[in-house]
Amino acid sequence: MQRTGFSVYIIADMEGLSGVVRNQTEMRPVARGGSEEHERFREILTREVNAVIAGARAAGATQFIVNDGHGGTLFRNILPEQLDPDAILIRGYPKPIVMSTGMNPMVDALMIVGAHANAGTAGVIAHSFAFDSFTVNGTVLNETGIAAFIGGEMGVPMVLASGDDVLTAETQAMLGPLEVVTVKRVVSRAAAITIPPARVYPMLRDAAARAVRRTRAGEFKPLTFQKPYRVRFCLRASFTRDDWVRTTVSRLSGVQDGGAPGCFLYVTDSAEAVGNLLNEVEWTVLKP
Ligand SMILES: [Zn+2]
Repeated sequence: MQRTGFSVYIIADMEGLSGVVRNQTEMRPVARGGSEEHERFREILTREVNAVIAGARAAGATQFIVNDGHGGTLFRNILPEQLDPDAILIRGYPKPIVMSTGMNPMVDALMIVGAHANAGTAGVIAHSFAFDSFTVNGTVLNETGIAAFIGGEMGVPMVLASGDDVLTAETQAMLGPLEVVTVKRVVSRAAAITIPPARVYPMLRDAAARAVRRTRAGEFKPLTFQKPYRVRFCLRASFTRDDWVRTTVSRLSGVQDGGAPGCFLYVTDSAEAVGNLLNEVEWTVLKP
């Protein structure tokens, strides 16, 4: 990484893209049990990321690290040949800390596009990794919040999130001030009132520019918690019936019984260690 200039780390997920409503057909390719529809949303994903880069660059950002963060396709969704040439792209799996690979204290601002609402909410394709619940010191975190927690320990604030209206509202409640772009209004877990991508791109560009300016003005705070972090998580109910996943997670280093079936406690002084634990849980569940 360059040590001068302004660096932006962009996590690219897919469920919260403009137009996306259906997991089974739109979020994975034919080879992984999905459909050809996925190809169209890969292009929308790439263009949403490019819009964020263009806006950030217009406000003075100079370096752009993009982490492909959608696991349904083992983190290979962005079309590299269509990605802004100023970006560095992290793609493929396995990779450490899943959605925060390569995050480091030299990054100035963290952004997420295509984000989805937390497990147990009404959001479109709402979920959180392999969990039904995930808390740090009693505070509920969605996937965006977990990335903000890992970045926060490095002094990096989450400054922009885009997705449906459930995601943007819950993330503002979790993190405090940040720029949000609401690309669709939830009707059900698989239906939404959507804004066309062509209108979303300029919204993302403008929000990313505002986010960089506001970061430079010191308006956003990194998400931090008191140490030691007490991380409580419950695996998705479908996994708690799967003895293999439950047993494997229970044997991960440092993981303690959480007092309920499929629930665990992990106590640590390191957010990065929490990220590595997430990685091990994903590895267990994705079985690539
Ligand atoms: Zn995803």
